[in-house]
Amino acid sequence: MNCNKLSFSKPDVIPVLDFELSEIMQARDNGNILSLDLEITEACNCACVYCYRYESEGAQPPAPDELTAQEIEALLTEAKEKHDLRRICILGGEPLIPLIREKYISTLECCNRLGIEHVTFTNGVALDRDTAKLLHDLRASVSLKLNGMDALTHDTLVARSGAFEKSMTAFNYLFELGYGKERSISFETVVTQSNYNQIPEMWRWARERNVVPYVETLTVQGRSQTHTDNLVVSNEKLQRLFTQLQHIDSTEYGLEWEVLPPIAGGHRCLRYYMSMYVRANGVVCPCVGVDLEMGSVRTNSIKEILSSDVACQTRYINEHITGKCKSCDLAQTCYGCRGAAYQQGDLFGEDPVCWREQKNR
Ligand code: SF4
Ligand code: SF4
Repeated sequence: MNCNKLSFSKPDVIPVLDFELSEIMQARDNGNILSLDLEITEACNCACVYCYRYESEGAQPPAPDELTAQEIEALLTEAKEKHDLRRICILGGEPLIPLIREKYISTLECCNRLGIEHVTFTNGVALDRDTAKLLHDLRASVSLKLNGMDALTHDTLVARSGAFEKSMTAFNYLFELGYGKERSISFETVVTQSNYNQIPEMWRWARERNVVPYVETLTVQGRSQTHTDNLVVSNEKLQRLFTQLQHIDSTEYGLEWEVLPPIAGGHRCLRYYMSMYVRANGVVCPCVGVDLEMGSVRTNSIKEILSSDVACQTRYINEHITGKCKSCDLAQTCYGCRGAAYQQGDLFGEDPVCWREQKNR
């Protein structure tokens, strides 16, 4: 059974989410990590109001304790040679800021040498024509931030004027180089009150260009905690939006998927079984939404990290989960968003956003 990609009839894969359930579970039981989320820097050129980082984080220049290119290379080599690493998501901060360009290039070159696929998540502000060419030459898949279909909405959400224009220009540079055809590209956004009404239009815009839409529910943490009144969308409205997107896909593009949080498009977050999140300073957590520490790549081997108490529980999250996520008929292939549960005080509690009616198992 394929739990991530439900009967898509067109190429519609965010590379890092495209693993078969059997591979994922095998990786977990063999102590492997098929994918890894790497925060290459904490520094950023935007200050998104919904960011999972805190107000105090993200300033430029990069903090002095961030992993060096050599340390990242050692991590990737260990992960590939001993734990079957296949893909990484390069996160920030902002991976394309010029201040860390050398480290970024060296990371992608290392991935290419080792045969590791990579997706760069970027806000697009620093993605000029030369950078687009660089991404293409380095065989990067790209996920570009797009928070709305107009400058006011996008720029307000990323807290930087001119960002929308830059994102749109960046898409065009990438399209000219063949992204959307032979190279994967997605747009990424979080559902908030201000972009809610625009998401169906963004969805169609993406489908028409072979851009994979990556639309997620908001986890209230970090910077978003200070803007909840303007950001948080009710569960009922989220369900209505996801249902509308599913209807668009079904009637206009022949794509079928199940309407579930936290990601529209039928994608499920199964990272806990086969991934880990490495922060810029080397500290490892289960994912961006959960700041429980599993160790540090500076002082621990991956094997030690995967043997930590936190990892032992999160890698087998389905054995610890409670509430309706435990009794749910999808419990073997879904745990909702653990970040959302954790931020409400219980990592193992049911996903507070899930609208799914209970069915008998
Ligand atoms: S109740 Fe939990 S396991 Fe079931 S669909 Fe919702 S989030 Fe997934
Ligand atoms: S559990 Fe939620 S916050 Fe964590 S990686 Fe999955 S979707 Fe993101």
